[in-house]
Amino acid sequence: MVQATGIGTIIMEMHLPDGTLRCTLTSVLYVPTLKKNLFSIPKATQSGTVVSIDSTQCVIQNLHTGQLLAVAKHSRGLYMLQGTSVIIQQATPTAQAFTASSTPTSMDLLHQRFGYIGIRCLKAMAISNHLLNKQDLSQELQFCAECSQGKQFCLKVSRSKVPRPLKRLQLVTSDVCGPFSLSLSGARYFCTFNDSHSKRTVVAILKHKGEVFDKFKVFEATTTKEIRLPIEVF
Ligand SMILES: [Zn+2]
Repeated sequence: MVQATGIGTIIMEMHLPDGTLRCTLTSVLYVPTLKKNLFSIPKATQSGTVVSIDSTQCVIQNLHTGQLLAVAKHSRGLYMLQGTSVIIQQATPTAQAFTASSTPTSMDLLHQRFGYIGIRCLKAMAISNHLLNKQDLSQELQFCAECSQGKQFCLKVSRSKVPRPLKRLQLVTSDVCGPFSLSLSGARYFCTFNDSHSKRTVVAILKHKGEVFDKFKVFEATTTKEIRLPIEVF
């Protein structure tokens, strides 16, 4: 069994006896493990074409107009579609197959292969063992997700008591909770704004974590208008 990791649209220039014809193939599956591209006849007939096959070739025509769309010549037990792909118009990734990333440089690869070693040691090692040429050595490391994740740590939260502010909105704290399973409105997070003096808490529902600042602006506008005091520390 092979696994498709993406689905998209491909434009093909079909080579016909009297010239070429541009065709758009939709719902094309991207299967990285397949070495050859395969064309599905049932899919073609489902999308309004008629396929006729004889011992020398396979011809695909428009079911209604009879227009010739593609020809596949018989060769060594396979019908080879006569055409070339022009542009990959769009590919919707269903997995991480198409995640955009810049091409790793030789320096990046060496950094990964030697257990994410730091740039200074990496350069020293590369020089003493003649692993990289001058041009590669002049490169800096690109952003490395593994290193940045590996170096993250939790800051200790102080348990000492903070004196209660003397007036409202002197200190407002906030927290974000989630992700939770999707709500009916499509929300996955909620955030709270707590006034440390009155202990009054306002809850806002979020679809994405990035909405916190927008929700804060709404909270600030409504509470400062209601209480007639500015937020001093957030
Ligand atoms: Zn790294």
